Amino acid sequence: MRSTETALTSDVRGAVLRRGDDRLPDELAGFQTAHPHRPDVVVGARDADDVVAAVRHAAAHDLPVAVQATGHGHTTGLERGVVVTTGRMRGVSVDPVSRTARVGAGARSADLVGAAAGHGLAPVSGSFPGVGVVGYTLGGGLGLLGREHGWASDHLRAAEVVTADGILRRVGPGDELFAALRGGRPEVGIVTAVEVGLVPLGEVVGGGLFVEAEDAGRLVPVVRRLGDEAPESLGISLGVVPVPDLDVVPAPIRGRTVLHVRLVAPDAAVARAAEDAVREAAPVLLGGLRELPWTESGSIVGEPEVPHAYEGTNVLVTTLSDEALGSVVAAARSASVGCVVDVRRLGGALARPADGPDAVSFRDAGWIVRVLSSTEGESTAAVRAAHAAVLAPVADAGLGRMAAFVYGGSPVSAAELHSPAVRELLARVRAEHDPRGVFGPC
Ligand SMILES: Cc1cc2nc3c(=O)[nH]c(=O)nc-3n(C[C@H](O)[C@H](O)[C@H](O)COP(=O)(O)OP(=O)(O)OC[C@H]3O[C@@H](n4cnc5c(N)ncnc54)[C@H](O)[C@@H]3O)c2cc1C
Repeated sequence: MRSTETALTSDVRGAVLRRGDDRLPDELAGFQTAHPHRPDVVVGARDADDVVAAVRHAAAHDLPVAVQATGHGHTTGLERGVVVTTGRMRGVSVDPVSRTARVGAGARSADLVGAAAGHGLAPVSGSFPGVGVVGYTLGGGLGLLGREHGWASDHLRAAEVVTADGILRRVGPGDELFAALRGGRPEVGIVTAVEVGLVPLGEVVGGGLFVEAEDAGRLVPVVRRLGDEAPESLGISLGVVPVPDLDVVPAPIRGRTVLHVRLVAPDAAVARAAEDAVREAAPVLLGGLRELPWTESGSIVGEPEVPHAYEGTNVLVTTLSDEALGSVVAAARSASVGCVVDVRRLGGALARPADGPDAVSFRDAGWIVRVLSSTEGESTAAVRAAHAAVLAPVADAGLGRMAAFVYGGSPVSAAELHSPAVRELLARVRAEHDPRGVFGPC
C-alpha cells in the first residue's frame, strides 16, 4: 500500500514541499512578510486536480488548510496542516464576445488587465497590479472605477471551488455558495478559477497630485466636495503619505509627509475639471494627470512594490465632513508611527444592489477611511494605538470595516466585517460546505 506521503506526492503534478524543505521560503514568499505560514506541507498546485488532492489529503488526516496566492491579504499563518499555493495557476482567457474572462486562481490583476486590454476591455480592477484577482474579487473588490461599475464581485459570473470534502464544484447564480463568494470571502474552500465580466474601456485620464501637508486646510474641503458632487465616473481618493528619505524619491516630496490626491475617469473633461479644482486649492509639488491605458492604472496610486510586514485597518462611513476628514489627516501627520492613510470615495454603483444575492456588506457606505503602517521596527501596540488615533474622528460613525483592507493581525470582529444577513449566509454556507472547519472560522 502507498504511504499517504507518497500518495500526495504522486497525485500532485505541481510541487509538494514538506517542513524543512529549503525551497519553502521561496514557495511561501508573499507581499506580506509578517505571520508566515509554517505548515507541515505546502502543495504548489498546478491545476484543480492538485487542489483536490491537497484538500482530500488534509480531510483524510484532519489537518487545517489555507490558501495563498500573492500574500497581499495574508493575515495569520498556519502552524500545521496544509497550505495550497496557487501561483502556478495564472492562466487567463478572454472571450471578447461575451465580455468575460476565465481567470486562474493565481492570476494577478496585471495578468487579467493585460489580457483584456487587447480587446478594448477591462476588469473592475483595483489600485495595485500585483494583487490576486481571486482574493480581490472574493473580498468584494473595490476598483478605481468602482463608482461607475460597482464592486468587482458584482461582475463575478461563476466560480470553480474545491470545498472541504475535496469535491470540485462549479457554482453560479442560484447557489448560496456563489452568493457567499461574491464579497463574503467565505473561506470554505479553494477557488480554482473564476469567470468575471469585463467592461469596455479604452484610455482614461488619471494620476496623482502631491500637495504639502500644510495645505490640508485648503485641500480637504475640495477633495470632500469633489467626492460628493463629481459624476460617478470620477474615481477619487486622498492619501496621506510619509515619503521615505531616499535618493530615488523626487526631491520635492523626499523625506516628508505629503498629501496625494488620486483622480481617474474615462471622460477626460471630468478628470481635468477635478484636477483644476485641486490645483486651484493648493500648489502641486509633483505629479499631474495624463492619458493612460488601463494597463498603466497602477501608476495612479503608485503603491510601493517591495514586500514588507504591515498592519492595516479601516472604517466605512456613510458621510464624511470636512472637519472629520481634516482631523484624520491631522492625526496621521502627528502619529508616533508612520501611517499611510487612504480615504476613498465610494457611492455610485457601489451603493446599488448586485443583480442577485451577494455578500458585500455596508453598500450604503459613502467613504472608506484606511490606515496602514509598516510594522518593521515598530511595536504592534504602538501601531494599533496610532491606527486607533487616526480613525478616531470617524470611528463613532463607522458602519463596519472592509475585510479586504484589514491587514496583518489587526484586530477585528465578524460583526464589524459583515452585516447580520451576510453573517447568516456565511454560517449556512460553512455548515453545508465546511462543517468541520477545515478552512478555519469565517
Ligand atoms: C498594496 C495593496 C493594494 C490593494 N489594493 C486594493 C484595491 O484597490 N481594492 C481592493 O478591493 N483591495 C485591495 N487590496 C486588498 C486585496 O484585495 C486583498 O488583500 C486580497 O485578499 C488580496 O488577495 P491575494 O490573493 O492577492 O492575497 P493572498 O494573501 O494570497 O490571499 C488573501 C486571502 O484571499 C483569499 N483567497 C486567495 N486566493 C483564494 C482562492 N484561490 N480560494 C479561496 N480564497 C482565496 C483567502 O482568504 C486568502 O487568505 C490591496 C492590497 C494591497 C496589499
